[in-house]
Amino acid sequence: MNMNKGKIYVVGFGPGDSEHITKRAIDALQQSDYIIGYKTYVELIEHLVTAKSIVSTGMTEEVSRAQEAAKQAEAGNIVSVISSGDSGVYGMAGLVYEVLIEKGWTEKDGFAVEIVPGISAINSCASILGAPVMHDSCTISLSDHLTPWTVIEKRIEAAGMADFVIALYNPKSGRRTRQIVEAQNILLKYRSPDTPVGLVKSAYRENQKVVMTTLAEMLEHEIGMLTTVIIGNSSTFFYDNKIITPRGYQRKYTLGEEKQSLKPHQRLKKEAEPWALDQDTGEAQSGHEQIVKTKQEVSSVDMALKALSMATKTAIENPFLVQQPIENVFEFAVSPGVANKMITSEQMRVLAEAIGEKGTLEYTPDHRFLVKVPTDHPETIVKKLEQSHLIVMPIGDVVNLKACDFCYGEKADSIPYAEEIAAKLGGVKLPKELHIGFNGCGMACYRAVFDDIGIVYRKKKFDLFIGAKPVGRTAHAAQPVAEGIEPDQLIPLLTKIIEEYKQNAHPNERLFKYFKRVKKIQHYNYHDMSSKIEVEPAPCGD
Ligand code: SAH
Repeated sequence: MNMNKGKIYVVGFGPGDSEHITKRAIDALQQSDYIIGYKTYVELIEHLVTAKSIVSTGMTEEVSRAQEAAKQAEAGNIVSVISSGDSGVYGMAGLVYEVLIEKGWTEKDGFAVEIVPGISAINSCASILGAPVMHDSCTISLSDHLTPWTVIEKRIEAAGMADFVIALYNPKSGRRTRQIVEAQNILLKYRSPDTPVGLVKSAYRENQKVVMTTLAEMLEHEIGMLTTVIIGNSSTFFYDNKIITPRGYQRKYTLGEEKQSLKPHQRLKKEAEPWALDQDTGEAQSGHEQIVKTKQEVSSVDMALKALSMATKTAIENPFLVQQPIENVFEFAVSPGVANKMITSEQMRVLAEAIGEKGTLEYTPDHRFLVKVPTDHPETIVKKLEQSHLIVMPIGDVVNLKACDFCYGEKADSIPYAEEIAAKLGGVKLPKELHIGFNGCGMACYRAVFDDIGIVYRKKKFDLFIGAKPVGRTAHAAQPVAEGIEPDQLIPLLTKIIEEYKQNAHPNERLFKYFKRVKKIQHYNYHDMSSKIEVEPAPCGD
């Protein structure tokens, strides 16, 4: 037996049009002496091939197709066995291998076998519906031809329970009509009847038909052998006649945000982030007097309410959007005080209660707790925490003041200044996070000189440092820019520096980078604090 000359390609030709077939698939088809496949499929790709011989068989003759392919390859021919979509997804690839295994074929001694991947129905159909898959998903074939229904049932149950986006293949045929009804029943146990469902028949083929419906109503529409049924997860929604699954389940918000804080690399398109639609920024754009907020003007409770309304301002106002509920996660920072680092057991109790079963508390390197709580009532949480004298601050790209403990009061003269900075500038939104380190004496033991802005109280006046790079291999301290600043000058000066940075820095540009780029902040000139040091190579040795 000649096992060496021939080759089998198992080709997935995609949904069925010539635009969505891969180049490798076309090459394989064109190199083949034989094309073997189901009649309807062969017709779809016939115009692309020049094969001497086309063997088309009936739907149920899959095994004989695989056997025929093996026979022809053994005889030294190049053969393409074709599947729609991907040949490895309910396609011919596995079957071809099963037949070859029976014959004792191995890669080393036998003819070559190449599986050529194609766009599977879950992907082609999803692209027509919008972006329904996006998150964790699965495919389930409802055909109980070769799989016991009890197994299929279990998989639907599991997928429903685990909130997978589900693509149902082989949902229904003339003979098999019960399965889709049972699948719907199972899924309705776990998912809202309003869950978006897309029915795509003959994607990218001549008779393409698309229906947008819901889990409750999907059976009122035509579903057949050529349909793929895509069922959304619990956060999938309709928008402008499209089905969209967001990339995540949670919508995070913090105090007083004018926009939900997604970093550029996380930022989603409008379609995927409908809560960002039509938002006014609500924020003062210029004039440094506007940057200074006073406690009376903006309470944390107001900020919390505003943040929530930003996060939830969605469906009601947009007629194109039908939204399932999404969990709102309120994120903020808490500390016992600007100078005070002691937390009482009563405060701990209140904090624990606010966090509840579902929230989390994380202690951060800048001496505060980061809290994440799923809630639509941020104001209740903020009120309770503030009543027990905890300071609640926004997180993200904002001004954050970190003061020393003033040796528990001994060096307390400057505490009021630290508190004033926190009240006036803390939480102001910036292009990037900005930490102000405030230390009550020249020891600067809370490492103010390693913060974006360092303030050190010395001889009843202030020293100012700007632009540390606190982390990374090229970390460096901040540059000393001024000594002996009069106390009444401190806050106006800081405000100007922060305002300048806010107005002129690029998004995501940290203060040290900004200082390095523009070479001057206010009237302070930049000096390179990161002079290059030659590093000795590590000794290699014994
Ligand atoms: N190998 C194929 C799946 C074969 S099972 C793939 O990867 O796509 C057959 C099922 O696939 C059909 O019952 C239907 O649910 C789905 N299907 C295949 N091609 C399709 C198309 N063009 N449009 C919609 N569904 C399709």
